[in-house]
Amino acid sequence: MPAKGVHVAVTADVVVAGGGVIGTAIAWQAAAAGLDVVLVDPERGDAASLVAAGMLAPVSEALFGEGALLRVNLLALERFPSFAAELEDVTGHRVGLRREGTLAIAYDPGDYAALMRLTAFRRSAGLEAEELDSRACRKLESFLAPDVHGGVLFPGDWSVDNRRYAAALREAMTAAKVRIVRDRVTGVLAGDGRACGVAVADGGEIGAAQVVVATGCWTSSVAGLPAELRAAVRPVKGQLLRLRHPDGMPPVLTRTIRATVRGVDVYLVPRADGEVIVGATQEERGPDRAVTAGAVHDLLHDAMSVLPVTSELILAETCAGLRPGTPDNGPIVGGFGAGTGPGNGPGNGPGNGQRGLLLATGHYRNGILMSPVTADAIVAYLTGQPPAAEWEPFTPERFAATPAAGEGSR
Ligand SMILES: Cc1cc2nc3c(=O)[nH]c(=O)nc-3n(C[C@H](O)[C@H](O)[C@H](O)COP(=O)(O)OP(=O)(O)OC[C@H]3O[C@@H](n4cnc5c(N)ncnc54)[C@H](O)[C@@H]3O)c2cc1C
Repeated sequence: MPAKGVHVAVTADVVVAGGGVIGTAIAWQAAAAGLDVVLVDPERGDAASLVAAGMLAPVSEALFGEGALLRVNLLALERFPSFAAELEDVTGHRVGLRREGTLAIAYDPGDYAALMRLTAFRRSAGLEAEELDSRACRKLESFLAPDVHGGVLFPGDWSVDNRRYAAALREAMTAAKVRIVRDRVTGVLAGDGRACGVAVADGGEIGAAQVVVATGCWTSSVAGLPAELRAAVRPVKGQLLRLRHPDGMPPVLTRTIRATVRGVDVYLVPRADGEVIVGATQEERGPDRAVTAGAVHDLLHDAMSVLPVTSELILAETCAGLRPGTPDNGPIVGGFGAGTGPGNGPGNGPGNGQRGLLLATGHYRNGILMSPVTADAIVAYLTGQPPAAEWEPFTPERFAATPAAGEGSR
C-alpha cells in the first residue's frame, strides 16, 4: 500500500476519485483496457458499498415513472453474471451471486392492494411476476408467518454478497496494476477547457489526461464541478442489520423477502454463509451515520412480523450507510459538452464543456447492481467509444451544462 504523500507529481492516463464499488470497478476495467490508472480514496471505511444489502433487483425496485432507470437496471442485471465470473476468475474468490428471485410479501390486505398495483405496473413493463396466496408463499419459504396476506414471486431479481464483491474488485484492481493513493480529492484541476488532474488534501496534485469522479454521496465536496451538480447529489441514510444463524441452525430463508408490513417496507436477504441482512431505513439526515435504537427496533419488529424465526438469529452487526441520491433517483454517468454524450467519447465532439472530466455517481439504491455497467460506460467514454444507449438519460448535463469556470482550475 503506498504511503501518504508519495503521490505528489504522480501522472497517469486516468485518475479515479473514489474507491467504492463504482470507482473500483471503473479503475479495474480501465486498467484492463490498457490505461494507466491511479485511484484516490482516503479509505475511511464509510463507503455505502460496504453497508449495502447486495440485492440485484431491477424488478422489485421498478417504480411508477422510472422507466429509464428500469432499462438501465435491466441492462445491469444482464451484465452482472459475466462481470462477476470474470472477477471470480481473476481473483479466485466467489462473490456469492444468487439467482433465486425475490418473494414480495404483503402483511395485510392494504399492503396486498398496494403490491397488486405495483405488480400490474411491473407486468405492463414486461417483467415476470407470479401471484401467490399465503399458503403458496409458505410453500416457498416455510418459516413465513401464517398470517401474511399473500405475495408475488419476482424471479428476475438476484443478489450478491456486496462485501465479498467489493473485496474482489479491490483485489482485481490491484492485480491490474492500478496505483492506489490513500488521500482525499479536494478538486478537479483544469486548463485550456480540459480536466488535467486532481488536487488532494495533503497539498499534492495528480496529473491525468482524464478524470473520473466516483465519490458517491460526497460528490458535493469536490471543487471544480458545477454547483448544480454538486447540489444534485445528497446522502440518503440507510440503517441495516446483519444477523447470523446460531451454529447448527438450518437456513431460515432460501431467497430474498421484501415485505410490506402495514405500509412499511422491510427486506431480508440471505447469504450462502448463513448471514441474513435486514434493511433498511431511508432517512434524509445529511451526513449522519449514527445507528439508532428506534431503527434497530423497527427493522427487527417488521422482520419478525413476517418471519418470526428472525428472533432466534444472532444480531451480529448494526450499521448505517449513505446512498448517493439524486433528484430523479437516477445515476449521473458521463461527461460534459456535446462531445461527451452517448455516441461520442470525451474530446471527440465539438462541445464547449470541460473535456476529459467524467462523472460516475448518484447510484442511490442500485449502485452494487449498476457497478459493472457503469464501468463499461465509463471505459467506453475513456476510450472514445459510444456507451450503451440506456445511459442517454443519465448524463451530468441534465443537471448542469458545463463545469464551474475557474473553480479548481490551475
Ligand atoms: C443501507 C443500504 C442498502 C443498500 N442496498 C443496496 C442493494 O441492495 N443493492 C444495490 O445495488 N445498492 C444498494 N445500496 C446502494 C449502494 O450501496 C450504493 O449505490 C453504492 O455503494 C454507491 O457506490 P459508490 O462507489 O458510488 O459510493 P461509496 O460506496 O459510498 O464509495 C464512495 C467512495 O468515495 C470515497 N470518497 C469520498 N469522498 C472522496 C474524495 N473527496 N476523494 C476521494 N475519495 C472520496 C469514499 O471514501 C468511498 O470509498 C444500498 C445502500 C445502503 C446505504
